[in-house]
Amino acid sequence: MPIYEYHCPKCDQDFETLVFNSSEKIECPSCGSPKVTRLMSGFAHKSDGKMVTSGGGDACASCASGNCSTCH
Ligand SMILES: [Zn+2]
Repeated sequence: MPIYEYHCPKCDQDFETLVFNSSEKIECPSCGSPKVTRLMSGFAHKSDGKMVTSGGGDACASCASGNCSTCH
C-alpha cells in the first residue's frame, strides 16, 4: 500500500501516512488541519524489498503517482 509524505503549513511539520483511497481526506496528526500538501518530489518507498522512486522509468504509463501501488 502506498505511503505518502505530507507537509502541514499550519504547524510546519512533515508526516507520512498510509493512503488506502486516493480521495481520502488527510489531516495533520498534530493539529488536525485538513490543509496539508502532499510532497511528491523525492518521494520513495520500499515495495517488496525493491526501491520504487517517483519520476523514474519503472512506473507504468498509466500510473500518475509514479508508482504502481495504486493502479494494479
Ligand atoms: Zn499541522
